[in-house]
Amino acid sequence: MARGESEKLPAFFYRLSPASQRAYLRSDSIGKFDLAPTPQVLRSADLLMKTLVEGRPAAIGMAARQLADELCRLLRVPPISIEVRGVRPHDQRGELHGIFYRTRPPRIVLWMRTAQRHQTVKPRTFIRTLFHELGHYFDYTVLRLGDSFHTRGFFQRESSLVRALLPADEAGAIRDSDQSGGDEARR
Ligand SMILES: [Zn+2]
Repeated sequence: MARGESEKLPAFFYRLSPASQRAYLRSDSIGKFDLAPTPQVLRSADLLMKTLVEGRPAAIGMAARQLADELCRLLRVPPISIEVRGVRPHDQRGELHGIFYRTRPPRIVLWMRTAQRHQTVKPRTFIRTLFHELGHYFDYTVLRLGDSFHTRGFFQRESSLVRALLPADEAGAIRDSDQSGGDEARR
């Protein structure tokens, strides 16, 4: 996807190293993963939706790991450790939905309850956060970008996973209103 002339690159882009600038531009140009959903991965996504409605932490953790494993298998990369915790940490800027740690081995932490009222996060929001954090992992492993930025292409890839694996929501809308809030990638 070509960047229109009206769409400027963020100011920080010009402070990046040449290698990181190349990673940014390449990330921005890729709108989806090369992935054909299998019955197993669709079943795993469906199971995770159901466990989130039921709200039992152990079942949610197991289902999230199963879905992540299926996606890693489809994209031919090693599985990644997924930990599901309770109430989201928060500060003045908002709530933290999830974190990708680029450690060895890499891992992802997701929170299943809102900071304000301790309610279970909406299933689509939780799964979108899982896809978001996996997106950071896939930037390094599947796309081999060497860096992971929140480019327009990054969010398009996240949305393409939502479209491929989750049923359309009631309004038929693709985007959740609160999509991708409160994420941090830590190294
Ligand atoms: Zn992120």
